[in-house]
This record gives sequence, C-alpha cells and structure tokens, in this order.
Amino acid sequence: MVSKKPRIVIIGAGMAGLAAANKLFKSTNSKQLFELWVVEGGSRIGGRINSSEFCGDQVELGATWIHGIQGSPVYEIAQESALLHSDQPWEVMDGFYSREQITVAEGGYELNPSFVQPISTLFKNLRKFSEGKPVDGDGLSSKIVKRWSNFGPGNLSVGSFLRHGLEAHWSLVKDQKPVDGVGNWSRKSLEEAVFAMHETTHRAYSAVDDLWTLDYNAQSEYEMFPGEEITIARGYSRVIESLASVLPVGTIQFGRIVEKIEWQPDGCSQELRMKDGDDGRPVKLQFCDGSTVSADHVIITVSLGVLKRGIDQDCNMFIPPLPSLKIQAISRLGYGLLDKVFLQTNRPIIKKPMISNSLLANGQEALEVESLSDEEIVNGFSTTVSNLLSSKSQDESDEDSGDGKQLKFDKVLRSGWGSDPLFLGSYSYVAVGSSGDDIDELAEPLPENSSDLDSPRSQLQVLFAGEATHRTHYSTTHGAYLSGIREANRLLKHYNCDVV
Ligand SMILES: Cc1cc2nc3c(=O)[nH]c(=O)nc-3n(C[C@H](O)[C@H](O)[C@H](O)COP(=O)(O)OP(=O)(O)OC[C@H]3O[C@@H](n4cnc5c(N)ncnc54)[C@H](O)[C@@H]3O)c2cc1C
Repeated sequence: MVSKKPRIVIIGAGMAGLAAANKLFKSTNSKQLFELWVVEGGSRIGGRINSSEFCGDQVELGATWIHGIQGSPVYEIAQESALLHSDQPWEVMDGFYSREQITVAEGGYELNPSFVQPISTLFKNLRKFSEGKPVDGDGLSSKIVKRWSNFGPGNLSVGSFLRHGLEAHWSLVKDQKPVDGVGNWSRKSLEEAVFAMHETTHRAYSAVDDLWTLDYNAQSEYEMFPGEEITIARGYSRVIESLASVLPVGTIQFGRIVEKIEWQPDGCSQELRMKDGDDGRPVKLQFCDGSTVSADHVIITVSLGVLKRGIDQDCNMFIPPLPSLKIQAISRLGYGLLDKVFLQTNRPIIKKPMISNSLLANGQEALEVESLSDEEIVNGFSTTVSNLLSSKSQDESDEDSGDGKQLKFDKVLRSGWGSDPLFLGSYSYVAVGSSGDDIDELAEPLPENSSDLDSPRSQLQVLFAGEATHRTHYSTTHGAYLSGIREANRLLKHYNCDVV
C-alpha cells in the first residue's frame, strides 16, 4: 500500500510554477504534508521572465511591464522586496509614449502632429471600444465607434473591426485636401499609413501575426489592473528569485525536460494502489534522458506552445491522450510570438543622446529575425534606420553628429522565444474561433469528474496552470502567478488544508 506523503511535481520553474510551489510550501511547511518537486527543463528559473544586462543597462528579454499596479500581486512582491529602485540604469522606455514623439513617413517626411493626432485618436478610441472601455469625448471618433456599437456577434476579428472604423472615418470626413511637404503621399494614403502604424504596435503587444486572427468578442473580457504601468528597476527576475527563495535547496531540479506524462483516466486500479511507495502513485513522468519519476499530482505550467506541440501526433506527450475537449481548446487558442532586440549605437538617432534602444518584432517577422546572425541584424537595422533618417528634416541631427547620414549599430542583444523548444513563442491570445470558454477548459484538472473516483490520490492527477489558463489575465506575469496560486489552492483544499 502507498504509505508515503503525497508527491506533487510541478513542471516548469516560471512564474506559475514557482507561485504554486511557494504557496504549497508556505501553507504546509510546518506540517510537511507533501513531498514537493519542481522539474525545470532549462538551466534557470523564470521561464518567460529573463532579466539581462546590455551595455551596463538592466534590460528584459521577456516580461517587461507590470500592467497596472493596483491589486497586482507582482507589484506587491516587487514592492515588498524593494525592487522598484536602482542606481543602475534600467529599461524604462522613457519617451515611448511621449508627447514629443515624431512620426516620419517613408522618404523621411516628418508629419505634423496636427495631421497625425486625429487618426491616432480614432485608433485609440476604436481599440478602447473593442476592449469595452469608455472612449474619449472627441466628437468624431465617438460618432464612428457608436456607428459600430452593434458590431458582432459572430467570428469577428479585431482587424476587421478596426478597418471598418477607418472606412467609417473616411465616409464621414470629406476633407481630402493635399498635405504639404510630404512628397507624393496623398492624404488618404498617409492616414492609412498612420493607422497601419498603430495596428503594427497593437499586433506586437498582442503577439499576433495578423489582427484578423485576434477575436473581437474576447477583447472586452480581458482585464487590466488599474493604475500606472511600470517596469522593475532591479529586474523582473528578482520577483521570481523572491518566490523561489523560500523553497528548500534541491526542490527545483534543472535540465529535467519532461517528454511523457502517463496518467490514469479511470483512477488508480486496485493493483496499482496495492503497490508500495513510488510505484503506487498514479502519474508517471518520463524525462528526455529516459529517467522516470512517479507522482500523485502533477501541475503542468509549460507554455501553450509547448502544449500544442505536446498534442501533436509526432510528440504524443500524454499517455493516454488528453480528452478531446481539452485538445480542441489547446488547438483553437492562439499563441503568438514577440521578440525583443536591443541595439547599441554610438551617436544620437533623433536629436537625442542614445546608448541603447529596444525594438519589438513579432509573428513571422520575429521568427525570421531569430534565424539571422547578429551581424546580419546589426547591418540590416543600420541600413533601415539610416534610410529612414535620410531626409532634410534630419539634417540638423546629422550636422550635430558630424559623421554623415550613415548610422551604424555596433552591438545587439535579442531574445529567441519562438525557436526555443521550451517556449515556442511568447504568450497566448484568444484567436478567432476560440473563446474564454476554451481557456477555462484548458484549466480543468484531470481526470474529468475526479470527485467520483474513490481514492484522493486518484483524483486531481494532472492540473494545469500557466498564463494561458487564466481567463481574464492571460498573456501576463500576474495571470501566470494567479493561475499557480489557483492550482496550489485546489490541492490544499483537496487535502483539507487552510486556504488563505
Ligand atoms: C517578449 C515578451 C514580453 C513580455 N512582456 C510582458 C509584460 O510586459 N508584462 C507581462 O505581464 N507579461 C509579459 N510577457 C508574458 C509573461 O512573460 C508570461 O505570461 C509569463 O512569464 C508566463 O509564465 P508561465 O509560468 O505561465 O510560463 P513560463 O514562463 O513559460 O514557464 C514555464 C516553464 O516550463 C519550462 N518547460 C517547458 N517545457 C518543459 C518540459 N517539457 N519539461 C520541463 N520544463 C519545461 C520552461 O523552461 C519554463 O521555465 C512577455 C513575454 C514575452 C516572451
């Protein structure tokens, strides 16, 4: 008979895995109710949180922002651990949303803000409307969004909603006067280009290849914490270190890539239950080096990308395969790619001293950037930015630097989330054809109808956490955190431990 303590194995030492481990350990430490393991395929903790250094600056290759500080558990940890201030420069993206931002059209024509602003406001209002937020009181764009207030239901995409809004703008605004000083650009094509620029930014933050794949109806379900959005001066990874610091040495095992997860959909057989020690536990994990470990409960926190590959026929990570509802949810939900590229240049780009700057690449383009060598990236960006700046409007800055118009980047640091087999992308989204119900389905533990099974160790064999399992906060670090706490609480409740 099994006589040992229940063994809980958490797969993945990212935010979700370590939040769960921290919660389970802190809640039961004095009673030592469980045997707790965290098996991590890589060689570090943090997963999609990975702070680094570039040219003396603290930078983030993965998660960067705390999206709203009021009520954010990540902010709470960062504040308690004094991580919000540092003497070392860190990635703050100052000026990213600055009023001094300039818009330059291809050919180097600097656009007058009075031309850019109405289209930018229209885009912002359409976006807010799609997210279920009140739009700013600017007359024209409110008129346009009202026109579309009955947009839906059905398989509508954010991309099509936005473009309908732009078309409505053109049908209402008759002013098609040419714009001065912009070469051959027509007013309409410039407006379209400004709108497309905002779409590109939105695409990057949603990590989608194309806004036409992003579900419109799910947007209003997504929640943000109120308050400021900030970065973490001493590095996002320090939040993760703080969670891991309570765990006894040896709890986290590195280089343990789980290849197979064998579970018992009908609960433990009488025969299995009669076996001693490890052999009597219902779940068996097989690692890539061929070694195995048994567990009573496994919390899977791997990314949606890794799960998508796991249900592939070539991979078959689950034995037996997952129930069809879960497979459908995994297949339908979207999982995108966002990469960050840091470049160093030794001269100002736009009339401002600059040491390093980060750029975002997403989707298929990001995968292509990942396949390039550092040298190709440095040369490619040098040429592109030089071309963009080769205009009369930049002459002043060129004269300042005194070295002609050619700008040369000389150092690069970039992420490679898409090609890393432990991530296969950056974060999830609700794709057209899926919905929040798929997220809830993904979060359901296995076996289904666990409570009908007689032994507590047959129940809740496989639990699912990770950002993609949080219906309203998916794609974020706090969503991952909350999902880890949710699954830890599920097990604590199962064993009648106090859940705070
Ligand atoms: C470029 C980028 C920018 C982002 N920006 C922000 C931001 O500004 N704000 C924000 O809130 N969020 C942001 N995010 C999202 C945020 O980083 C993630 O939502 C969150 O970190 C996910 O945590 P997780 O624990 O769910 O998954 P992960 O961090 O992926 O953890 C899962 C762990 O499982 C391990 N693993 C995978 N497969 C196996 C296996 N077979 N066996 C064993 N171990 C395995 C992985 O190595 C990993 O450590 C960003 C992400 C990226 C990539």
